[in-house]
Amino acid sequence: MKPAMPDGAPAATEAIKTWLQPLQPVLDPGGRIDWTRLTSVAERLDRALRRYPVGPDLPAGTERSGRLRMIRQDLARHVDTTGEPDVFQVLTQFMCGYCDIDLRDTTGLGHGRLIARHGSPQTKRRWIPRLLAGDLAGIAVTEPHGGSRPAEARTCAVAGSDGTWTVTGRKTWISRLTEAAVFLLFFRAPDGQLVAAAVDASEPGMVRQPIPPTGLAGWTWGVLDLDAVKVQPEEVLHGQGMGLLREHFAEYRPLVTATALGGAAAVFDTVTARLSERKTIGDVHRLRDSALITLGRTHVQLATALLGAVMASQLAEGGHVDAELWGAATKAHGIDTANSATAELALLLGASGFRADCQTAKTRRDLSGLLFADGIHDSLYRTAGKQHTATKDTAGGITAVPAPRDQLNSVALTG
Ligand SMILES: Cc1cc2nc3c(=O)[nH]c(=O)nc-3n(C[C@H](O)[C@H](O)[C@H](O)COP(=O)(O)OP(=O)(O)OC[C@H]3O[C@@H](n4cnc5c(N)ncnc54)[C@H](O)[C@@H]3O)c2cc1C
Repeated sequence: MKPAMPDGAPAATEAIKTWLQPLQPVLDPGGRIDWTRLTSVAERLDRALRRYPVGPDLPAGTERSGRLRMIRQDLARHVDTTGEPDVFQVLTQFMCGYCDIDLRDTTGLGHGRLIARHGSPQTKRRWIPRLLAGDLAGIAVTEPHGGSRPAEARTCAVAGSDGTWTVTGRKTWISRLTEAAVFLLFFRAPDGQLVAAAVDASEPGMVRQPIPPTGLAGWTWGVLDLDAVKVQPEEVLHGQGMGLLREHFAEYRPLVTATALGGAAAVFDTVTARLSERKTIGDVHRLRDSALITLGRTHVQLATALLGAVMASQLAEGGHVDAELWGAATKAHGIDTANSATAELALLLGASGFRADCQTAKTRRDLSGLLFADGIHDSLYRTAGKQHTATKDTAGGITAVPAPRDQLNSVALTG
């Protein structure tokens, strides 16, 4: 398939035509998705990308991060996807990933969904309109002793006589380190319970140390030190911290998975276009069977992994008891699939796919980051494995993902 953007960059509208529409009967059997609206989101995204190009030749840094923010703000002015069914956002993420995995925060509330669902009325009033207008929410969970054990957080709060808490600790590997307007910060309350609060990123006592990453470098990333940061009672989210994390990531992981699969789908289209072109101009007389087999296999792998992400999203939206299991397993599987498919496909591009400024090379770097971000793979597969081996006697010890306090549509989500 030929990419549609004038500079040869993958276009969101192309992702709909080549990947989503052919799968429409299985992606959307109930007709819940407004496909015209989805197409208009894609057109808007393509327009924004023409205005603020973020090709692979634009290095990570202030300019790239600034353009990504402009794209998010541009879309925020023209489209609000938060009222749509969750599957709409999953497909939007696929289109964003198709254009560039750095566009993973182009639409939606992102981690701000935690505020929409569990924030106090004051906190929602303060942050939801800003997030809908294009501001970003970061999440600060991981600590230096290991992010795969969030229940063992060492960042903790001390209660003050005026009712506020003072939080001290270190968070690490944090995305949107300098771009986020608000952080969903997880820490121990004075009584030792894990809790979360929506903390203004400009609050005194937040000290940042950016670290250059190998991939996913569109936003800054690194260490967030909390040196006696004040947290007001109304900023603390309603609910126990582990429950909030589990509920949130059951919904968030399908979005991450779809973004990764979109990136891999664009690699697939680049490779098929290149092979067809080589055949047309006579550089190769016929396509080798090994190449055709790779194309057939990777296409079905990516398509079925996307169906898995859609299914996981629907379970999470419906508050299904197995939502966490499927969100974790389909994220690990989908990102493994995206990584292995692009590694195989990239060989068919030859050395041209090894140039640092080639989109395929960038996508592969970004995909490797997603093996860790939003849940490290062995831990996700382990979560699933644990549930599969739970006997009737131990099943009582595995807690279902808690239902959200509010349904999204009962929250004012429009700016
Ligand atoms: C690009 C990127 C973006 C990220 N963004 C964010 C963010 O915005 N916010 C955030 O909070 N975090 C973020 N993270 C951190 C991410 O969530 C963590 O990397 C992940 O949770 C794993 O934690 P860790 O890296 O500390 O690895 P660890 O928890 O140290 O795990 C590393 C390995 O050790 C193994 N291990 C753990 N315990 C044991 C044990 N007892 N015995 C044997 N092996 C063990 C694990 O299974 C794993 O294989 C990001 C990471 C990346 C790479």
